[in-house]
Amino acid sequence: MRMVDIIEKKKDGQALTKDEISFFVKGFVAGNIPEYQVSSLLMAIIFKGMDDNETFNLTEAMLNSGDTVDLSGIKGIKCDKHSTGGVGDKVSLVLGPMVASCGIKLAKMSGRGLGHTGGTLDKLESIPGMKTRIDIKSFIDQVQKIGIAIIGQTDNLDPADKKLYALRDVTATVDSKALIASSIMSKKIASGADTILLDVKFGEGAFMKTIAQAKELAELMVKIGKHFGKDTRAEISDMNEPLGFAVGNILEVKEAIEALHGKGPTDLKNICLESGSTMLVQAKVVDSPEAAKAMLMSKIISGEAFEKLRQMVIAQGGDVSYIDHPEKFPVAMYSNEIRASASGYISKIDAMDIGLDAMRLGAGRETENDKIDTAAGIVLAKKVGDKVNIGDILATLYTEKPKFDTIAKDIAGSFILSSSPVQVHPIIWDKVE
Ligand code: URA
Repeated sequence: MRMVDIIEKKKDGQALTKDEISFFVKGFVAGNIPEYQVSSLLMAIIFKGMDDNETFNLTEAMLNSGDTVDLSGIKGIKCDKHSTGGVGDKVSLVLGPMVASCGIKLAKMSGRGLGHTGGTLDKLESIPGMKTRIDIKSFIDQVQKIGIAIIGQTDNLDPADKKLYALRDVTATVDSKALIASSIMSKKIASGADTILLDVKFGEGAFMKTIAQAKELAELMVKIGKHFGKDTRAEISDMNEPLGFAVGNILEVKEAIEALHGKGPTDLKNICLESGSTMLVQAKVVDSPEAAKAMLMSKIISGEAFEKLRQMVIAQGGDVSYIDHPEKFPVAMYSNEIRASASGYISKIDAMDIGLDAMRLGAGRETENDKIDTAAGIVLAKKVGDKVNIGDILATLYTEKPKFDTIAKDIAGSFILSSSPVQVHPIIWDKVE
């Protein structure tokens, strides 16, 4: 088999066979096929697409390129959830302890933030002492013992995706449905859970800009999950404005703690209740979403959901006194209040702009090796639909960088006002099962 013939075939719009897909994935991981040929094939896939069978075969070749995690030693149904990424998305920090306190076994591998999006690992690591690099045996033991572990991917999980994603990033070949779906699902399936819930985001701060695009991606990922025998479901959620108020690592951990105490922003609470109820139904803990929501609420009220976060932090070496007393977390050296220069109703808070501004303030990474400032970020004071008067605080920025005037102006520009009241939509727009 020759790589040039595979490229030619895809260029002509023909479907690749399982053997051809396996040949290019294995060859690329082994270093036998050069990046220029793989880039050329990726670009042909961007233009000609892949059918469902090709996408299943690509997912299989990728997930078998490295280690797969065997969770069968853990009793019960093992669950996982994945978000396609956004701004202020601290859902895993709240939802994980909520569902684990209801008896679910959550074995989750998360990622780091890049560009405008944050990552769960960075947020967790902003808790002093918290470890996210944990060997698989300890990961499994922790899930067995307390029902929850959130760690980084092991080094040899899906090496094909690591290499392909790095190449896609620099060859403008990220935005293919088949490539995104196989990339995400190969990692999820290799991680070994029985059920997968996908939060596919659409809007300014998401990969997918429209609901229709997000739904198509969700449908493809659900099909892949089912093909591999996993109960896979998806939710299509709004990422036009940041989720909750806080954007930035320590700021988001503090907001997650508030939410686990039954306080915090309504959109965060709603998405956690919706996603949590789907996960409880998937794990057969309850048989209706209504019963699931009641159970989740009762765990917040009783303090068991918060206690589960404490247990996870202790199990992963974190200093739990920060969870009990969030006022102990360091506060950034500089802060600045951004005020409204006109009155009206907020019709838009551009999530992409806010995410990029938080990154520039030090909360995120422009490139993979950048260091982050854990205390940096932005806390919104208003959400879409709120009425503001001239001079009201719209947001507060936090940074270790002494020069932030341009960023402050940019944050102010992310808020768009309307003279008439604005309708607020629910956070979840659609579901795919
Ligand atoms: N996230 C992934 O893991 N892979 C993609 O291709 C896009 C987003």
